[in-house]
Amino acid sequence: MDRVIVVGGGIAGLSVAWALARRRREVVLFEREGQLGAGSSAKSAAIFRLAVAEPENVRLALRARELGRRFSAEGTVRPLGGLYLTDDDEERRRILDAAAMAGVREARADERAAGLAPRGRPALFSPDDGVIDVHALVQGLAREAREAGAQLLASTGVDGLDFAAGRVTGVRIGSETRPAETVVDATGAWSPAFVPQSNAGIAPARRHLFVLDRPRTASPYPTVVWDLTAGIYLRPESGGLLVSPCDSDPMAASDHVPTSREVASLLFSKLAGWAPALAEARVRSGWAGLRPLTPDHRFVVGLDPRLPGLFRLGGFGGHGMTAGVAAGELAAAILCGEDPPDARALAPARFR
Ligand SMILES: Cc1cc2nc3c(=O)[nH]c(=O)nc-3n(C[C@H](O)[C@H](O)[C@H](O)COP(=O)(O)OP(=O)(O)OC[C@H]3O[C@@H](n4cnc5c(N)ncnc54)[C@H](O)[C@@H]3O)c2cc1C
Repeated sequence: MDRVIVVGGGIAGLSVAWALARRRREVVLFEREGQLGAGSSAKSAAIFRLAVAEPENVRLALRARELGRRFSAEGTVRPLGGLYLTDDDEERRRILDAAAMAGVREARADERAAGLAPRGRPALFSPDDGVIDVHALVQGLAREAREAGAQLLASTGVDGLDFAAGRVTGVRIGSETRPAETVVDATGAWSPAFVPQSNAGIAPARRHLFVLDRPRTASPYPTVVWDLTAGIYLRPESGGLLVSPCDSDPMAASDHVPTSREVASLLFSKLAGWAPALAEARVRSGWAGLRPLTPDHRFVVGLDPRLPGLFRLGGFGGHGMTAGVAAGELAAAILCGEDPPDARALAPARFR
């Protein structure tokens, strides 16, 4: 038997199923929601961000953008540029060290950050950052995976792992057991609950997003503007603005992620000082999702050192939509016996 079972149909699970099927591996994916990509992957701000301090994340993001060109003629990233304000010299240096190879450079807060006080603050500019077409990405991965022979089964929750002689040998779905040579845990924020036997360093944290009407007095903000010091970001969205106060509350994963009025108040108290023209803006919609974080902000990709037969693909934090496709490709290469670059840096064994 040479079958891989993937549990979870978000960007992680879809990407590894897609990459394995293209390598002619037998792969079956189970997603408990009625639709693929309905978990954290549907809740993101869809910002493609190269300006980060981890070189592995930058390399994966560049590769993911290249892979995205398969799924849409224009690619799955609409470049707008991203301006990252930070008063911390050390933070700017770390991001530049990792991301200068992707075109990220020193800048100043200028007209792209109009209305944000004070002007001239030190910043970084990433010309290729922008907005991801999540629908094209998820649908493209699912279509190509199925064409290559993968079975992608929605509305099918997996109840747990099946073991024999200390090894993971498949999964349990109701009273049935489905055998596999390897099971891939791609359950994202649900990973600690799905695999209580072994913690892969993944801890979910809630974050809110709000879509605001843009008052006539406010700048159109055509780029991503992210204030790393104040902890707030925005980008254009359907004539308005998508904004987050960068809240990060540890929270066990559940079917419904509750929203909090206090976080809405936090957003408006931050806006009052940061972008006064937006402080009275009307909220069109708001939601919260879970970011599966790791202690070192890097993904987890590799065999679980404590549970033979289990492969971990997760801990995508706030970068899953940016770089997840390339992490799935990396996972498939490891599962096919290769030792690709970055595999060791991302191995779950680092959290032993
Ligand atoms: C508010 C917010 C803003 C974000 N903004 C960005 C951004 O701008 N840019 C960016 O790159 N990233 C962003 N992210 C991060 C990104 O959304 C995540 O990194 C990514 O979606 C994680 O993908 P995943 O496949 O690991 O998890 P998910 O998409 O959550 O997929 C896991 C799936 O597993 C399924 N599942 C769980 N348990 C089981 C089970 N037992 N059986 C079957 N299925 C199961 C779940 O239903 C779920 O669909 C943001 C996240 C949030 C919450």
